[in-house]
Amino acid sequence: MSEWDELYMEVILDHNKNPRNKGKIEGYTHSADGHNPLCGDRISMQIIVEDDIVTDASFIGSGCAISTASASILTETIKGMKRTEIEKLFKEFHNLVTSEDSDARTVGKFSVFGGVRKYPARVKCATLSWHALMAALEGKKETSTE
Ligand code: ZN
Repeated sequence: MSEWDELYMEVILDHNKNPRNKGKIEGYTHSADGHNPLCGDRISMQIIVEDDIVTDASFIGSGCAISTASASILTETIKGMKRTEIEKLFKEFHNLVTSEDSDARTVGKFSVFGGVRKYPARVKCATLSWHALMAALEGKKETSTE
């Protein structure tokens, strides 16, 4: 592993060990279950949206270190964000993990997932919580990375 990979893994393993915002939230307005059959990850997102702003977010479920860390960072990041800002960040994050031609500086803490680009099977782990979030925002109840 390169020095960069080690740094990424350190952040990912920390979030996996001590996930932020894991658990249910009372009175959530949107939720969706996400399933990644390839790895067996199951992540459910619960959020509260008020006036088009996400005021609270949490996740439940179980998955590998990458899917758990991604959900943990995601719930931390989106609190206080507008729906349009979240959609923009999702596009940038998706570009980061799938394209060489991407800019890690635009995605904040999600830059740690730049390394998964080299492992295509892992991209679905990193994006699972995002797909669940987008499904929840669209009023869907479940989604799959298939
Ligand atoms: Zn996984």
